[in-house]
Amino acid sequence: MSELATLPTATPSARSGSSITFDNVSKSYGEGLHAVEHVDFKVEAGEFFSLLGPSGCGKTTTLRMVAGFERPSAGRVLLGDEDITTTKPARRPVNLVFQDYALFPHMTVGDNVAFGLKVKGLARREVSERVTDALTSMRLTALADRRPAQLSGGQRQRVALARALVNRPKALLLDEPLGALDLKLRREMQLELGRLHRSTGTTFLYVTHDQEEALTLSDRIAVMNQGRIDQLADPRSLYERPSSVFVAGFIGTSNLLVLQQPQRVGEYHVSVLGDGDRLVAPTSVHQGQLQVTVRPERIYLHPTEDAAVAEHHSTVRGVVAEIVYVGSTTHVTVDLPTGEHLEVHELSNDSDLKAITRGSKVRLSWGPDCTHVIGPVAAP
Ligand code: ATP
Repeated sequence: MSELATLPTATPSARSGSSITFDNVSKSYGEGLHAVEHVDFKVEAGEFFSLLGPSGCGKTTTLRMVAGFERPSAGRVLLGDEDITTTKPARRPVNLVFQDYALFPHMTVGDNVAFGLKVKGLARREVSERVTDALTSMRLTALADRRPAQLSGGQRQRVALARALVNRPKALLLDEPLGALDLKLRREMQLELGRLHRSTGTTFLYVTHDQEEALTLSDRIAVMNQGRIDQLADPRSLYERPSSVFVAGFIGTSNLLVLQQPQRVGEYHVSVLGDGDRLVAPTSVHQGQLQVTVRPERIYLHPTEDAAVAEHHSTVRGVVAEIVYVGSTTHVTVDLPTGEHLEVHELSNDSDLKAITRGSKVRLSWGPDCTHVIGPVAAP
């Protein structure tokens, strides 16, 4: 056993992180390739903040500008009050953890975690204390003597996290750290990351293209699209009140409808579609044809077309196109007379589901406040 494994365990003390400010930051790679454009926001100290978006939208470039591996073409990056835009990577009190663990294969877990501190020339006792602290925090004490090849993928990722935490960073920068893990392990590691964030109190800046992961873990999320931030909000607001068609589609199922020629009725906009169909939405500042969305779990599926529906609810007829069983819920896709489609998520034990098959004529309905107005329909 190495000396590291025999050291007494310690509980990591709460440490606070620093805020990260992006002050109108842009990054171009030569003429015409704008990887990041006018990114302007602040991650609060101690926050779990995610950058979410499709491949190539600029998430990693944004993160690497905090680590110092990329320099902004314009704008400034601040850590706390300090401008770190041009500070060398090694002088920044931040650590980057990515999918490829990059552990030293010939060193034990303990030595991998201790390596950076030894290079910095810290006293032996301090190195021991910090390594014990980090191994305890990542539940790795019993594995301190193993080499990376003797570990599972999840354990290796925990070593990579311990190696970052041992430096007591003011911000932990995580680039798709769970990308190489299978789904079950991903879920476990998500819980681990949440626990780690709470116990260290440091700032987490997290890059992912997995919307569920971002919604589960984050205090706030910035959704990126083609180098720009489309929407920055807490998970619930992003899900329930997307500000663009892109965000509505990227976060969850995109159930998009057009509210044609709405009339104001009391506190709602109502679009009468004929044959008993209507769409009802809360009034908004927007005028004209409106793009609206409704989340699939908010929609009731009635097994017959002539089902009675409450007065102020939206209601549309449709034909069942697809029924997909996914365990506790069943996803039903319904084709509407307008040519639009809606996906409905029903609990699989709902008795109404038994009455429908592909081709069934059904009625859908949802409450007026479940229709979210995104904005005017964009010109083609
Ligand atoms: P992914 O999820 O696939 O990692 P991302 O959102 O992290 O994508 P970035 O890696 O930040 O995206 O890349 C943003 C854009 O900048 C892409 O078009 C990419 O091809 C380009 N890019 C990134 N690094 C460089 C580079 N060193 N030279 C030229 N172009 C680059």
